[in-house]
Amino acid sequence: MNILIINSGSSSIKFQLIQMPSEEMICSGLVERIGETDAVLNYKTKSVDLKQTHVIPTHKQGLQIIVDLLLDLENGVISNIKEIQAVGHRVVHGGNSFSNTALVTPEVKQKIQQYAPLAPLHNPSNLEGIYVAEEYFPFAKQIAVFDTAFHQTIPEKARKYAIPNNLYEDQDIQVYGFHGTSHKYVSEKAIEYLQLEKSKIISIHLGNGCSMTAIENGKSIDHSMGFAPTNGLIMGSRSGDIDHSIIFYLVDSLGYSLEEVNTLLTKESGMQGLTGSNDLRDIEKEAAKGNSECILALEMNAYRIKKFIGTYVAVMNGVDAIIFTAGIGENSSLIRKLACRDLDFFGIELDQTKNEERSQELREINSSTSKVKILVVPTNEELEIAKQAFALLT
Ligand code: AMP
Repeated sequence: MNILIINSGSSSIKFQLIQMPSEEMICSGLVERIGETDAVLNYKTKSVDLKQTHVIPTHKQGLQIIVDLLLDLENGVISNIKEIQAVGHRVVHGGNSFSNTALVTPEVKQKIQQYAPLAPLHNPSNLEGIYVAEEYFPFAKQIAVFDTAFHQTIPEKARKYAIPNNLYEDQDIQVYGFHGTSHKYVSEKAIEYLQLEKSKIISIHLGNGCSMTAIENGKSIDHSMGFAPTNGLIMGSRSGDIDHSIIFYLVDSLGYSLEEVNTLLTKESGMQGLTGSNDLRDIEKEAAKGNSECILALEMNAYRIKKFIGTYVAVMNGVDAIIFTAGIGENSSLIRKLACRDLDFFGIELDQTKNEERSQELREINSSTSKVKILVVPTNEELEIAKQAFALLT
């Protein structure tokens, strides 16, 4: 079965064509800067590696370009759209309606729309991807895989906020959790690698968005993001945890509108607000040259991760393995080093040499005396979506 995976973001579409059950990736690509005059398309197969610039005003045109490429006589990988039997979509917010992957129906689309106010940067583009894919692949089954689904196992004591009960009961205001597809994928890889029957795992996803999950026996039991993908860790341009009274101060005393506060906290804060860049590579380079703002921002970032490690060790009364994943988690030895520094009380000890080694494979970076395994596990949300879509359809 050929499954096309679409991860439709606010200004980008990531895609992969995966053959199941062999898990063979037939092609992959990314359309970025949709809506701007210089949108960039990257596309790779076993024999082709293309980078093109196009004018791509809408997601629909972006997907049209992807379909044309898949069918292209010279660079394509299929000769007929019927060769794609299913399209798997990443959907960020499924609220309480989805604890599993779902076949897309009008009701499912209506639910994704209903949860759009809870993930305004993501759900509308995810839904747009579904509508466009339905049009271009009318013969394929459309499957939605929700980032929130993995976290439906979080118990009520960690799920509920200490605000009046009616807001939980009637308005569903609660912790939902995000990056579930990634946390599920990497924790299952770790459990398999370590051959654990019972397991206590802390999964640390550090990309543009950053989150951590406490995972006991394969189930999410606590998570650093909550109602929306904004709190917890310091991220590329999101603040993570702040005292909510700052919001009232900004509005009541400094004259900000609520929209301005939202923009400030989600697009202008985090590493962007602290250093002027949201790209950790640039921040690390500046820090190495002695830039004190960048050095402090890296310290703050790692300190927040460390606080959540401590919290989750307490929550699970122990930990077997800590996983670092996603762009920063897989590539930044510096953030890993800072986050794991002085945790030997918990039996968490990094091997500095192993930490510096580069590889695309799952690897162990703890010292030989460390009680806790520290792993770098490359995430693969697209493969996880393909696996779940295949499982649903077979
Ligand atoms: P993702 O959202 O998983 O694609 O991750 C994006 C983040 O990963 C950005 O902040 C990048 O700066 C960061 N990143 C990617 N490669 C590296 C690297 N080699 N060293 C440090 N950070 C990296």
